[in-house]
Amino acid sequence: MDWSLFGCFRKGHLTYAPDEPELRDRLMAATAGGTAWRCLRCGAFVTDGQHGSGPAAAAPLVKRGKELRGELILRVFAVERFLRFLVIGFAAYGVWRFKYDRAGLQRMYDNALPAIRTLYGDLGFDVNNSRLLKLINESFAFNSRWLTLLAIGLAVYALIELVECIGLWQGQRWGEYFAMVATSIFLPWEVWELARGHITWLKVAALMINLLLVVYLVWTRRLFGVRGGEAAYDARLRTESVIEVEQAALAAASPSTAVTPADAISSRPSRHEQDRTDERPAGQEP
Ligand SMILES: [Zn+2]
Repeated sequence: MDWSLFGCFRKGHLTYAPDEPELRDRLMAATAGGTAWRCLRCGAFVTDGQHGSGPAAAAPLVKRGKELRGELILRVFAVERFLRFLVIGFAAYGVWRFKYDRAGLQRMYDNALPAIRTLYGDLGFDVNNSRLLKLINESFAFNSRWLTLLAIGLAVYALIELVECIGLWQGQRWGEYFAMVATSIFLPWEVWELARGHITWLKVAALMINLLLVVYLVWTRRLFGVRGGEAAYDARLRTESVIEVEQAALAAASPSTAVTPADAISSRPSRHEQDRTDERPAGQEP
């Protein structure tokens, strides 16, 4: 799967005209349809797409290949976060409604109770053993301050999930940090819940997803200085960029134009670089 091409399919091509003339020549080509520029993402010469210009050092850092795949993986996590936001947000709303309409709900429940008893009886269950009915009965006895706190707690939790969702979807560094920290905070509680013996598949799956997200973020996004941190992350993007590759090729092809004379004298091209220079077809020399 060519993730760079897929990225351009999603976002459109991104081209850039560097101020440096030699580099600019390498990134452009005259075609019948006008001047084509090399896409910084997929590397193809294209005449459409978003076009920028300026010094080569100011060229946008474009995610390519594996980095784009990582972006999509984070979006899957973002969707999962959005589902959590919906479920928890709905629960918060439910508790809030319950608090204000408790009398009405209790009346409804009392009215329906004979029918529920009959239904339970018909199904062969004993009403007095029903955990659900017991829970409903207990909840009518909750005091309203506790319900307020529960609703606020759930609403805050839902908002955290929403912010995580937005941050992961956009793939911004702040979002990755936020998601990583917020998810880690709830991990001990999730483990404790399972350790108490309250094991459900939903809880195990939720814990697994959260653990995966934390490890994935810290490792691939190099959060908190892991594997060289942000500097190493940007450096990796840069070494894989079309502009850097072309600059390196240019420097290898003609060391004297790419580096200052003083540098050229102090560092003669190595045997390896000379070999690469010889390999270049003469026609491509500037
Ligand atoms: Zn492209």
